[in-house]
Formats: sequence, structure tokens, C-alpha cells
Amino acid sequence: MPMNRFFTYLDRISFMNINIWDFTYHSFFREYARFFLFKVMLSHPFRTSKGLTKYRRLMKEHKDILPKFTKFLSIPDEKSFFESIKKQRISPLVGLGFCLKPYNPEKPSSSCPSGRANHDCLYLDKGQTEAICYSCAIYRLGEKCLETGCKVYIMTSAKEIARDFLIPQINSEKFPSAILLLCPYSIQAIIPPLLICNIDMFLMAYNSGYCRDFQEWVSADRGIKEEITSLGKASWKKLLDLLSKLDGSEPQYKRFRREGNIFSCIT
Ligand code: SF4
Repeated sequence: MPMNRFFTYLDRISFMNINIWDFTYHSFFREYARFFLFKVMLSHPFRTSKGLTKYRRLMKEHKDILPKFTKFLSIPDEKSFFESIKKQRISPLVGLGFCLKPYNPEKPSSSCPSGRANHDCLYLDKGQTEAICYSCAIYRLGEKCLETGCKVYIMTSAKEIARDFLIPQINSEKFPSAILLLCPYSIQAIIPPLLICNIDMFLMAYNSGYCRDFQEWVSADRGIKEEITSLGKASWKKLLDLLSKLDGSEPQYKRFRREGNIFSCIT
């Protein structure tokens, strides 16, 4: 389609130092875009302008940031990311895609007992597990977050991410930093909203099972996603190292408490 090609071209030349022309074009009339526009951008015009200026500066200074990026991306750089967490004294929110959940439509015992495209998890919700949980990335990361005091959020659709995470941050500074596991495709799209909401971010890309284009992404946004995503070995190591750096300064947490769709650690 000519329009598609036009917006892809704008992304390729990084027109006006913006790399999400194609995504914005496809998103224009979608509900999540309207929701973000009204609840975030038009409600906070000064922060929106500041965030977009920061985004364009970042894209200008690091033209190769996205093409070169393959596994993880810290904004600001990793050292500053940790320094600001220490200053804020608030552990980052760890956001995990529902697509990490084990799933086998033909064999219920090989699927997540809490269902697929939702924020639920038997382990995070009730501290209970079934056999399949021990091979689940969410269980593994949940245990690590309990050691470090990080909040956990199972991400579903773009609208819900805005409602549960971005709006509480821009309105009340509830989540000033986040470590998010995402498909490489959506990493480009999430940077501007995170900058507008003033969230320091450490973004990690899935190694397999991820959405490759807008059509796959928008299906997953509606909860249609057959593949199970996973991180590569190097990313797992990096993620566990990152979380270990947060370890030790907090009291011993015993379990999670669910507040809305966010799981917070409690003693
Ligand atoms: S740990 Fe949670 S998300 Fe993973 S399989 Fe068990 S209930 Fe499902």
C-alpha cells in the first residue's frame, strides 16, 4: 500500500527525528491511541511536549539506537538508571508480557492455570503453584522480584498498560522506573509514552515467539497470540544481574499483594 510505504520511508530516514511514523499511522483510529491521547497527552500538554522533545533529542543524538539495538536498551544509561532508583527509593516495576505464559491449547496441563491473555497468575495472586509453573518465566521472575521488592505487572493490551501503569505514573508518580520485557517491534513504540510519563526504562527484547509487525502486534493486543515468547540466554543473565543489583537493601518480602493489576511485595 502506498501510504504504508510512505510512512515506512519516514521511519527509515527518521523524519523529524521520529521513528514511529508507521506505528502512529496504523494506530491513528484505534481505541488505545485515543485513550492515550485524551488521558495523557491532552491532559498533560506540558509533560507531553517535554517528553517528545526528549524523545526527538534522543533519536537525533543516537540515530543508530534502534537499528543497532537487539537485546536491551537503557534510557537513561544503565548507571544513571540505577542512581535514580536509589535516589527515588522506589524499586522499578517489572513488566512481563502475558505471552510469556506457558500455553498449549491441546493440553491444559501444559498451559498456565490462570488463563492466557490476562493479568492473572496463581503464584503472584495466591502464592500457589501447579507443576507447569516451575517452567514458567513469570514464576522465575516473580520469585526474584520478591527478593528485591520489585512490583510485578503482567502486561496485556496497550490500553490497559496506559490505564494501569502510565496514567498512575503521570498523575501520581507511582512508577518512576520500569524494567519491561517486550517484542523488539513494540520497543520503538513504547519509548515516547514512557518519556512523556517521565519513566526511566530498561527495555529487554524477546528472543523468540515475538510479534514481528503491526498486524501480529495488534492481534496480540486483542489477546490473540499463540506463540510463547522467551528471552535469550544473555538477556536472562542480564535481567537477573539487574535485579540482583537491587537486592539486599529492602526487608524480607514474603508474598505479593494485588492492587488492581499490579502485584506489590509485602512482608
Ligand atoms: S507462574 Fe503464574 S503465569 Fe506462570 S504458569 Fe503459573 S500461574 Fe501461570
